[in-house]
Amino acid sequence: MTDAADRPPRRAADGSISAPGRIKEIASPANPIVKDIRALAQKRHRDETGLFIVEGLKLVLDGLDAGWELKTLVVAKAALEAGTEVLTRAVARAVASGSDVIEASAKVLEAIARRDNPQAAIGIFRRQLTPLARLALAPGEVAVALDRVRDPGNLGTILRTADAVGAKAAILVGDCVDPFSLETVRATMGSIFAVPVARAREAEFLAWRKGFSGKVVGTHMAGTVDYRAPDYGSAATLLFMGNEQAGLSAEMAGACDVLVRIPQAGRADSLNLAVATGVMLFEARRGSLGL
Ligand code: SAM
Repeated sequence: MTDAADRPPRRAADGSISAPGRIKEIASPANPIVKDIRALAQKRHRDETGLFIVEGLKLVLDGLDAGWELKTLVVAKAALEAGTEVLTRAVARAVASGSDVIEASAKVLEAIARRDNPQAAIGIFRRQLTPLARLALAPGEVAVALDRVRDPGNLGTILRTADAVGAKAAILVGDCVDPFSLETVRATMGSIFAVPVARAREAEFLAWRKGFSGKVVGTHMAGTVDYRAPDYGSAATLLFMGNEQAGLSAEMAGACDVLVRIPQAGRADSLNLAVATGVMLFEARRGSLGL
C-alpha cells in the first residue's frame, strides 16, 4: 500500500463533486501529516494553526451542520472498506466541501486520538471564537461567564449544559483552559459548535461589563442572596461562576450586581463548578423552559 498516495475524490451519491478536497491513504503514524495532527494536542500548535481535533462521526457531522470549516477528515480505512454507509456519505460530504480526507490505518487513528479503540472518524476543524464586543443579550436571555476555569472536563460539561438550556454564550475570563483542547471538546459532546465562546482578559471583561445593561449574577460561597431570588425573566442575565479552587476573585465579585448562594446540606464545602453552573443555568432558564 502506498503511504499518503493522492487519489482523486470519490463521487458523492448524486455524482457531483464541487470544490473537491483530496483523499490520501496513510498507514504509518510516523507520516508527517499525522505528526502535525498529533501536535494539535498541544495548545501552542492549536494557537499557531487555529485548528483543533474533534472525535467521532456524530461530532464531525454536528460541526459540518453548524457550518464550521472542516479542514481534514480522518477516517478508518477498515470501516470504509466494510461499507459503513454513513461514513461513506460523510467522506463524500467532506470532499465536496473542500476538506482533505485521510483514509487511515487503526494505528494512525490510535496515534491521533492517543487511546486504544479510537473512533472511526476524526475531524480537524478551524476554531471559531466570538469577539466579546459582538456579544449582545436580549431581555430574558442568559449567558455564562467563567472566572479562570481550569478543568477541561468542567468547561466541556458547562458548554454542553449551556447548550441544553439555550444559553446564548460563554465568556472565558482571565487564564482559562483552552475550549478547543481534546478533553474539553470530548466533554462538550458537540456543543462546542452550538455555544458561542468569547475570551477576555480581566480588564477587557470589566470594560465590556460597564456597557452591559443586563444583570450580572455572581455565585459565591459568601453570597447572601438565595440563587432562586433574582428575577431572571425581565433583564438579560450573565451568570458569573468562580474558579474551582479560589472562587470568584474579589475584583470579579465586585463587578456583580448580586452574589447568590445555592443552599447546601451535609459536609461538602461547595459544589463542583460544573454542577453549580448546571443548577444556576436551569434556574435562570426555568421560565423559558417551562419548568
Ligand atoms: N473554595 C472555593 C470558594 O470558596 O469559592 C470553592 C469554589 S467552587 C468549587 C467553584 C465555583 O462553583 C464557585 O466559585 C461558585 O461559582 C460555584 N459554587 C459552588 N458551590 C456553590 C454554592 N453552594 N453556591 C454558589 N455557588 C457555588
